[in-house]
Amino acid sequence: MSNAMSNAVSGAMSGAISATTSGMPNATTPVAHLVREHLAARRSFRPVGSGTWLHGGGPFADAEPIAVRSHHAGVVEYEPGDLVITVGAGMTWRELSQITAAHGQMFALAPYGSDDSTLGAMVSTAAAAPLALGDLLMRDLVLGLEVVDGTGEVLRAGGRVVKNVAGFDLVRLFTGAHGTLGIITQLSLRLHARPPLDRLMRVTMPRPVADALAGSLPALIAQRAPLPLLLSHTPGQPLTLWARVSGNAARVAALRAQLAALAGTGAHEVDDLGDIDTPFESPVESPVESPVESASATMGESSGHAGSAAAVPSPLDALRHTPVNAAVLRLRTPRSDALPFVQAVHRTFPDASWQYHVERGSLRLVVPHHVPHHVPHDVPHHAPSHDAMNELDTQLDLLYHHAAAQGALHRIAVAWDQGRAVPAPRSALDQQVKARFDPAGLCSPWRVAPELLNDTVVHTP
Ligand SMILES: Cc1cc2nc3c(=O)[nH]c(=O)nc-3n(C[C@H](O)[C@H](O)[C@H](O)COP(=O)(O)OP(=O)(O)OC[C@H]3O[C@@H](n4cnc5c(N)ncnc54)[C@H](O)[C@@H]3O)c2cc1C
Repeated sequence: MSNAMSNAVSGAMSGAISATTSGMPNATTPVAHLVREHLAARRSFRPVGSGTWLHGGGPFADAEPIAVRSHHAGVVEYEPGDLVITVGAGMTWRELSQITAAHGQMFALAPYGSDDSTLGAMVSTAAAAPLALGDLLMRDLVLGLEVVDGTGEVLRAGGRVVKNVAGFDLVRLFTGAHGTLGIITQLSLRLHARPPLDRLMRVTMPRPVADALAGSLPALIAQRAPLPLLLSHTPGQPLTLWARVSGNAARVAALRAQLAALAGTGAHEVDDLGDIDTPFESPVESPVESPVESASATMGESSGHAGSAAAVPSPLDALRHTPVNAAVLRLRTPRSDALPFVQAVHRTFPDASWQYHVERGSLRLVVPHHVPHHVPHDVPHHAPSHDAMNELDTQLDLLYHHAAAQGALHRIAVAWDQGRAVPAPRSALDQQVKARFDPAGLCSPWRVAPELLNDTVVHTP
């Protein structure tokens, strides 16, 4: 990065921060207090929500947990007429869904993993989700944030209205930062009205997978229906097309017919699996956020707020489930290469499951890895061995080769969501941003020693 650009970035950042905090009361939060305590003692720390995905997202060094859920888990403000809710970052997806369902509203995406994921963690990891309403991404749904940065300062970015873009976009910066720049304590989220019908539909294609792909994928790309679509494969099962079909009865009927045509010849009939969203047996009252005096933070401690209503499993759960002892990769290539790319994935990783996201041209690959006998059953995640990682690297090389041999023209971008301890390369800009928000380097520190990166490590959240 040139000096001029670098100066422009830091200038824009500092300007935006003072703009977003000016006029605010000199706010503090229990989490800010804890961060300052850690800074004073030079102890590294890491935010923890429900603790279901501490193994994902990157190679974090050991750090003391700061439990967000204990302090920030209630509703701060909810104006259903505005389709915006402001909540503590420790509220879970399940709690948010219960509260918004009572007003005929919803959060548009349900991430991979657990219904007990906290919203702060979901935003911090920019969690991916299958078949999100309207193909929305996490960054589309976060309007504003309150964050305690690595200096213990409370920052507020964005706002509580849909149109609110001014200065450097700190909301986007913290969405997907994996807690390395600070701890999210509060969020303003965009909601959607529940459509009259919101169905999960499935078509199975009982031909050999390679044939079924050739018969359906080009049409899916060329004549894409205006609805979220996924092609999925699990070893030993037929290729399956999934769709989220929402709207009124006439639209749903029309899209269902279109889906049958898109699946190609030989496909089974379209199965309507029912309402896509988790139905809750009884809505709960909105808990209201109250300041908490205690500064103690114990990992996994719960606020005792909402969450008591039992949820009936949603048909979408089958797609959201991810084994913890597996490598999860996101592969992406231009959609013009879709057929050779997906065929090459299927050929190269015969034991893996995958989901190809037709709208985005991205593929989620889940490669299970062997867990040695000495690892107890209750250990939730076991990192793959050196040998397993080396084998995966070899398979990735082979994938590029197979895709090119089948006619792919573009490179394949690979990102690891789970199972590999390799930090993203740090650019000069990354370093500058980190230095601005966490100059002491104590906030969610990366584990950088190269010889440790692929070590067999047992993570116990
Ligand atoms: C089996 C499984 C598979 C998953 N697969 C994927 C996937 O492929 N892609 C994907 O994007 N997501 C994935 N997720 C993540 C999940 O969808 C949520 O994003 C969420 O991270 C889990 O919620 P949690 O409260 O348990 O998070 P935790 O496990 O508590 O934390 C997850 C991460 O977020 C950080 N964090 C937690 N709270 C905060 C906060 N308030 N501020 C800043 N940082 C915070 C933590 O330090 C940690 O790095 C998966 C989760 C599971 C359980």
